Amino acid sequence: MKYLFGFHNLMGVTTFEVKVINKHDYEEAMAQIKKEKLATYNWLERELQGYTWSMHTYDRNCKVERTDNNASECFNSWILPYRDMPALSKLEEIRCRLMKRFTKRRNEGNTLQKTIAPRIYKELDQTFKKGEKMIVQSSGDLNFQVMDKSYYPAMRFIVKLEDKTCDCGYWEIADLPCSHVMVAIRYARDEIEEDIPFCFTK
Ligand SMILES: [Zn+2]
Repeated sequence: MKYLFGFHNLMGVTTFEVKVINKHDYEEAMAQIKKEKLATYNWLERELQGYTWSMHTYDRNCKVERTDNNASECFNSWILPYRDMPALSKLEEIRCRLMKRFTKRRNEGNTLQKTIAPRIYKELDQTFKKGEKMIVQSSGDLNFQVMDKSYYPAMRFIVKLEDKTCDCGYWEIADLPCSHVMVAIRYARDEIEEDIPFCFTK
């Protein structure tokens, strides 16, 4: 999973896209910004220090990797027809709409073939494909060393399946396996479903 951040017209940088996945990528992106525009680099370091725009600093307890508030924007748009109504009528309309939506989703869920929800399954499938360039070595006790060849030189990530951690940090942040974890699970011949949280299943 990779996130793109566009710095449009930010302190003179017209368009600057930064891939921020883990601390290593963050430092690389910052080095690139520093090279392109020192003032922007200084401002980011002084004002933001990575807290609001780099995934690697996120709280490990929240289990959310999203970097935007699209969910609240969607909800605002969803309740637009009721926003001018008196409070109780508005709440009643929203309650009825949510009830219909939950029922629709539940019925759809009952028809699913797979245990994992479709969007998550698709996401995992893409993550799994990224693992093709990785070399796994077991160090016992469900701990693995994964050499990621998408970096040059190849970078080492330590995956601990029992602790549910990977050096890249994505598993702890999003509660979904990263590509390093996926290859380790495949190597250990474990079932991926066992490592997917209940909220992502039907
Ligand atoms: Zn990882």
